[in-house]
Amino acid sequence: MEEIKDTFLHPVVPLDFQNNYRVGAYLQRYLDGFREKKILGAKCSQCGRVVVPPRKYCGACNLVMEEFVELPQEGTLENFTVGHVTLEKGQLNRADAPYVIGMVRLEGASNSLLAKLDVAPADVKTGMKVKAVWKDQVEGEYTDLDCFQPA
Ligand SMILES: [Zn+2]
Repeated sequence: MEEIKDTFLHPVVPLDFQNNYRVGAYLQRYLDGFREKKILGAKCSQCGRVVVPPRKYCGACNLVMEEFVELPQEGTLENFTVGHVTLEKGQLNRADAPYVIGMVRLEGASNSLLAKLDVAPADVKTGMKVKAVWKDQVEGEYTDLDCFQPA
């Protein structure tokens, strides 16, 4: 029987492309809220679920959600991970320092937001209260909501 060699190839494929896509009415409203440092969700009139970022249809009822509600700036860290690498243009690079990314459940929301956390990996804990941190100059971009930090 022929011996199988453990040969691995490690191709590196740098990716550098830009997407332009229309965000749609619901995400546009969400980003417009960022201009006033507000976090908006969509509320289902039937079951009361509040989803953030807002979506047009309720996943439970399949009804159009027509009500937008402002969510509080504070929530609970439901889960997290500590990153040690960054991905840029298809290249994995070692991060300058470990960083924390987590799922934040804003008070009153039915789902969680993926967000950066401004907290040391040694100090982060599931269940901790966190609050939104905005950039000084907001422009209606995803990056306006800079991160969350302990409340
Ligand atoms: Zn619903």
